[in-house]
Amino acid sequence: MHGLMMDTPLVISSILRHADRNHGEREIVSVTADNPRHRYRYSDLCGRARQLANALARFGLSRGDRVGTLAWNDYRHLEAYYGIGGAGYVCHTINPRLFPEQIAFIIKHAGDRVLLTDPMFLPLLEKLAGHIGCVEQFIVLTDDALMPSTTLANAVSYESFIGSESSEYLWPELDEKDAVALCYTSGTTGDPKGVLYNHRSQVLHAYACIAPDVMGLSSRDCVLPVVPLFHVNAWGIPYSALMVGAKLVLPGPKMGDGETLYTLMEGEGVTVSLGVPTVWMALLQYCDKAGKRLNKLQRTVIGGAAVPESMIRAFRDKHDVLVHQGWGMTEMSPLGTLNSLKANMQELSAEDKLKIQTKAGRGIYGVEMRIVDDEQNELPWDGVAYGALQVRGPWICSDYFRLDGSAGAHTDDGWFETGDVATIDAEGFMAITDRTKDVIKSGGEWISSIEIENVAMGHASVAEAAVIGVPHPKWTERPLLIVIKAEGKDVSKDEMLAWLDGKIAKWWLPEDVVFVDEIPHTATGKIKKIELRRQFAEYRIPA
Ligand code: ADP
Repeated sequence: MHGLMMDTPLVISSILRHADRNHGEREIVSVTADNPRHRYRYSDLCGRARQLANALARFGLSRGDRVGTLAWNDYRHLEAYYGIGGAGYVCHTINPRLFPEQIAFIIKHAGDRVLLTDPMFLPLLEKLAGHIGCVEQFIVLTDDALMPSTTLANAVSYESFIGSESSEYLWPELDEKDAVALCYTSGTTGDPKGVLYNHRSQVLHAYACIAPDVMGLSSRDCVLPVVPLFHVNAWGIPYSALMVGAKLVLPGPKMGDGETLYTLMEGEGVTVSLGVPTVWMALLQYCDKAGKRLNKLQRTVIGGAAVPESMIRAFRDKHDVLVHQGWGMTEMSPLGTLNSLKANMQELSAEDKLKIQTKAGRGIYGVEMRIVDDEQNELPWDGVAYGALQVRGPWICSDYFRLDGSAGAHTDDGWFETGDVATIDAEGFMAITDRTKDVIKSGGEWISSIEIENVAMGHASVAEAAVIGVPHPKWTERPLLIVIKAEGKDVSKDEMLAWLDGKIAKWWLPEDVVFVDEIPHTATGKIKKIELRRQFAEYRIPA
C-alpha cells in the first residue's frame, strides 16, 4: 500500500523559489575582475536567473542540452547554476586550471552547445576554437562596455544576452531524476570522466549539508566558499546557502590571495568558510605575517586533501576558529564524511579532541561506507584495519557520462570504489591513509604516506611535505620524504627524522629526506604524486 503524500519533485528551482520568497533581502557580495565589491540581493539573483533561462530558451536549447561555464566564484556564475539547471539544461562547470587539451576534451565530450566564460579565459578559448566546434555560442560574463575584442565567432556579453529578457519565467515541472549539472574528474590517470548529477541528488545533498552535525548552516550565517563553483558544485554551497538564506560572499578570481580573503572575512562578517588545505595555508601565512587575527570567522570546513594537524591547531590557538575536516569526491557530489565531535567527546582534553579532528570525519545519513580487503571481505571498524573504501547512496554516481559501465568503478553488489584506502574506528570516524594508487608497500605491509606527511608538516620549519614510495632491494618500497622549507627557516635531514621518531611507527621512518623548492599540485590543489614519482624516478636510496 502506498502512503498518501504529495509527489513534489526535488528540483533545484524549488530552492530558488523558496529563497526568493523567504530571504529576498539577503545579500550576495562578489569580487569580480572589474568590481572589488559587487552587491545585490537574493531577489536580484532570482530575477536574473529567470532572465537567463528565458534567453537560453530563446536561443533554442532543448531539455538536457549542456551549457559549459569557465568562471570564478561570483554572482553571474551563481545565476548560471540556476538559470541553466532550473530550466532543464545541464550546467557543465569546467575547471580553468586544467591543461588546455583537457579543457578541449571535456567540452567536446560533454557536447556543450553554449559556453559561459569569464573575460580572462578568452585567449585560452581562442586557441582552442578549432577543437571545440560543438560550441555554437560564447557568452562572456561581463557587459558591453567591458567586453574585450575577440577572434571567437559568436561571442556576446552576458548582460546583452540576458538584458532584454523578461524576469518573469515559469520554471518547468522537471522529473527529479533529470540531469542538472556535470563535472569532470581531474583525470590524474587517463582522460577526465564526467559525473552527471541529477536534481534529486543535489537537493538531498544540500539538505544533508546544512544539518547541525554536518556544516550546520543557518540564516544567521555568512558563508564564503573558497572552494570554486567550477569544482564539484562548490561542495553544495550554491544550493545549501540558498536553502537556509545565508549571506554569501564570493571571492571571484582572488581565491588564493590571503589578504583578500582576510579583508572579505572581516569586512563582511563571514562566519563559515570552506576550502582545500592549500588556500588556508595562504590565509594563515598572511595573518602571521601581517599580525592579524580572524575575529569574525567561527568555523571552517576543510577537505579535498588531508588536513595537517598543525593547521587545525593554528586555527584553534591563533584565531579561535573550529576546523571541521570533510572528505568526499567529485563522484559523491562531493560530501561523504564530516568531522564533528559526538556527545561523549565533549569532555575530552583539547589535545584528544585534536587527535579526532585530524580524521576525515564520520558518516552522515545518506552515505553508507565500508572498508574491504583484497578479497572483498568487510573489515572491522576498529581504527586499525585498513582497506579499500567503498560507498553507496543517493548522491553517489551510478556511472560516468557516456562511458556506459566501462570505467568499472562499481562492485558487483553496487558499491562505488572510491580509490581511497582508509580505517574506520569504533565511533565511525574514518581516516584516509592513502589513495590506492599512492600506497607504499614495504615488506608486504602498507605505510600511510598521509600520516607521515601530517607529522612532518607539524615541524615549524616545514612549509609543505610529501611522501612517496621509492624502490628498495629488500623491502620492495620504502618511504621518501620530500620537504619544502618554510620561508627563512632551516632544518636538516637528521633533525627531520628525529622529529618523526616516536610520532610514527619506527618502520615507517622515511629512508631519506630531500629538500625541494616546489612540490607539484593538481588543478584542484592536491599534491600530484604521479608527477613527484616521475621526478624521482631516477632517485636511489643512499647506501
Ligand atoms: P578528483 O577530480 O581528483 O577526483 P576530487 O576532489 O574528487 O578530485 O578528489 C577526491 C579525493 O580527494 C578523494 O578520493 C581523496 O583521495 C582526497 N580527499 C578528499 N578529502 C580528503 C581528506 N579529508 N583527507 C584525505 N584525502 C582527501
